[in-house]
This record gives sequence, C-alpha cells and structure tokens, in this order.
Amino acid sequence: MSKNFDVIIAGGGAAGFFTAINIAESSPKLKIAILERGKEVLSKVRISGGGRCNVTHACFIPDDLVKFYPRGEKELKGPFNRFCSGDTIEWFERHGVELKIEEDGRMFPITDTSQTIIDCFLEAAKKLGIQILLGESIQSFYHNEKHWKVETNKEVFLAEKLVMATGSNPKMWDLLAGMGHTIVPPVPSLFTFNIKDARIKDLMGVSAQASVKVKGTKLQASGPLLITHWGMSGPAILRVSAWGARELFAKSYQFTLQVNWLNDIDTDGCEEQLKELKQEQAKKTITKFSPYDFPNRLWQSLVSAAGIVPDMRWADLTKAQTQALAEQLTNGEFQVNGKSTFKEEFVTAGGVALKEVNFKTMESKILPNMYFAGEIIDIDAITGGFNFQNAWTGGYIAAQNVVG
Ligand SMILES: Cc1cc2nc3c(=O)[nH]c(=O)nc-3n(C[C@H](O)[C@H](O)[C@H](O)COP(=O)(O)OP(=O)(O)OC[C@H]3O[C@@H](n4cnc5c(N)ncnc54)[C@H](O)[C@@H]3O)c2cc1C
Repeated sequence: MSKNFDVIIAGGGAAGFFTAINIAESSPKLKIAILERGKEVLSKVRISGGGRCNVTHACFIPDDLVKFYPRGEKELKGPFNRFCSGDTIEWFERHGVELKIEEDGRMFPITDTSQTIIDCFLEAAKKLGIQILLGESIQSFYHNEKHWKVETNKEVFLAEKLVMATGSNPKMWDLLAGMGHTIVPPVPSLFTFNIKDARIKDLMGVSAQASVKVKGTKLQASGPLLITHWGMSGPAILRVSAWGARELFAKSYQFTLQVNWLNDIDTDGCEEQLKELKQEQAKKTITKFSPYDFPNRLWQSLVSAAGIVPDMRWADLTKAQTQALAEQLTNGEFQVNGKSTFKEEFVTAGGVALKEVNFKTMESKILPNMYFAGEIIDIDAITGGFNFQNAWTGGYIAAQNVVG
C-alpha cells in the first residue's frame, strides 16, 4: 500500500524544512511529508557555523549578494530580488528567532546556538502538521501519469509534487541523471591548504592581511590569512578554494601559492621602502620590530628566509638581501600539497545543472512537478552564511510555486 501526500519533500535538511514550512503556511490544507534517510533531521544545521549556525549574511542588496557565489551568481539575481537576506531576518523574527550581526557581517541567532534554529523549524513543522518521517532512505522515484511515486527502503509514497532537497547526495544525482538531468560532477569547495614550509612552521595561530595567487592561473584573493599547524587557512585561502574548486581539483591540489603579505605594494615598491628603512633605521636591528602591519614573529621568519642573520642592523643590509626580503614580503612562493577540511563550513560544488532549473519557480525544466532547493543544485558560496541563504531563497520560491 502506498502512502499519499500532496507534497513530498526529499531530505530533512535546511532547504527541505524551509520549503515544507513555507508551503504549509501558504496552504495549510496540503498534506506534506518530509522523508529523511537519517535518524535525525537538520544534522548539518546542528554542526553549522561551529555549532552556532551562521544563518545568513548582512548583505542586503541582491546585486552585491550574488558576488559571493562562485557558482550561481547570474542565476540567483532574480531569486534574491524575491527573497533576500533581509527577508531571512524577518522570516526568523516572525518565527521567534532574533538574529545578530557580527563585525564581519555574519549573522547568527542571538542565543549563539544552532539548536535555536532546529527548535524553530521543528516547532513550526509540528504546529503545521508536516509529517517528518525518519529512516526513509529514498531509493527511486518516477513520474506515474499524474503522481510522483517515491520508493524508500521501507515503503512507497505517492505525491503530486516532489521537492528535491537531498543536498549533495551522489545517489540522488545519479537517479536524476538517469532521468535526463545533467549533473555537474561534484568537487569539494571551501577547504584549507596543506603546506609544509620552514617559514610558517612555528607560526601556528599567526594571522595577517594578505593577497594570495595561484601561480600560473588567474585565481587570486585578498583577506585575512591564518597560519595553521598544517598550512594556511582564513578567508583569503577559503575564497581561492571556492573560486578555484574545479581548477584546484584538476591539479590534484598540488600547486604553488604566491603570497603578498603587503597586499597592494609590489616587489619594486617594497624594495624602495626597504631602502628608506635602511637610511632611517640604520643603527637598529632588523629583526627587532616589524615595519609592516603584521606580527613580529612573521617578520622575523621572512627576514630569516631572505638570508638575513638575526642581529644584523639595517645599515648592513646588502642590495641582494634587500631584493630577497622584498621578494619574501611581496611574492613568497609556497608549495601546496593537498587540502584539509575547513571544519566550520564546507560545501560541494556541482549538482543539478543551472540551465535545467527554472529560477522563477525552482521547477525542473526536465521533469514535471519536480522542484529543487539547496545544495542539490550546482550553486555554492564562500563561507559567511551564504550557503544557507541559497537554501532559504530556493526553498521560499519553490514553496510559492508548489502551492501555485
Ligand atoms: C560543518 C559544516 C558547517 C556549515 N556551516 C554553515 C554555516 O554556518 N552557514 C552556511 O550558510 N552554510 C554552512 N554550511 C553549508 C550548509 O550546511 C549547506 O549549504 C546546507 O546545509 C545545504 O542544505 P540542504 O538542505 O540543501 O542540504 P543538507 O543540509 O545536506 O540536507 C539534505 C538532507 O537530505 C537527506 N538525504 C540525502 N539523501 C537522501 C535520501 N536518499 N533519502 C532521504 N533523505 C536523504 C540528508 O540526510 C540530509 O538530511 C556548513 C556545512 C558544513 C558541512
């Protein structure tokens, strides 16, 4: 015997819940079920943002917001004009959750715990009569005249509309590919770089504003760079990892990273500055203080890498040493050998091809009455609350159109 619903939501994650709740609020009479393969729902929300859930970002203009999406920039313009980060704040406020803005623009619940978001969703779902069915791993689905027939490991469901919100599950992508959808092959995004290099060996925890480039490519980014015990992390690195997700995958994560610790100052400009310092600070020891706006430990390490001995005075700096130091400061090359997971947030680039989704409705252009929301689509963003914003926006628009 099959179980009948008006709408089935495949996947009990952020996108699935947001879609289900918005459908039920617009059309309380619809019979809605969320099918979740796991023992619990919203498991990624729970661990998100280091357990605090970075819900969205304080960037309220759609044209600005889309710039944070390496994949989806063009396609999200329309959707963000209908449901943007300001709408997210309002939505959560209406549902009893107040969000706060941190200095860098990231937004979290004021309680600083992701449990607040989970409780909000579970309470709303309960109040609206949405059925949450756990341990239901979807094995197949097909369109049967006027219904979607969805088979799980346990039973069979029938529904008029099917919302696909299974995140980055390869099995669901394979099923969709079998039904005619193009799936852009998945690769990781938002990762940190493994670097073994004497210059940063003992500098774990040191952070500096830097510009980084992947040698031989157009990939580059600026921002805080954090030295970790395995290499480099921080916003500058994560940006390169997101924009370079495919290119760096193709390089098997083996490449040369060029770091400019002085950002806008190039090697020639730096050399000029060092010559001035040689005059002005002649009697002082070079390693004593960093003339630049980064920790002295990093300065000492770069000075040493330029072949300058610890007690050398500025006056004794040779031309070759000046050039070597300028090179270290503005164009230091670091060999990257592999990547590590950024624990706060990681996502998958790839998924349902953008050209096959109608972004006015979030409906499939290939399969009737099938809608998409969240990470299942080939959309992803840099870290900062943007990935959830994609889930909320897609879920909201899908909901409006499922209801019709
Ligand atoms: C550690 C970590 C921290 C993060 N922190 C943040 C953050 O703070 N801010 C931010 O914006 N983004 C963050 N992200 C990214 C964000 O979590 C995702 O972009 C978001 O969860 C995507 O939502 P989704 O609903 O599309 O997919 P998911 O959250 O992955 O949900 C998909 C659901 O579908 C279920 N499912 C899959 N296959 C099946 C099947 N066959 N049958 C039934 N159910 C199935 C899964 O079990 C899962 O519950 C983080 C990611 C990670 C990994």
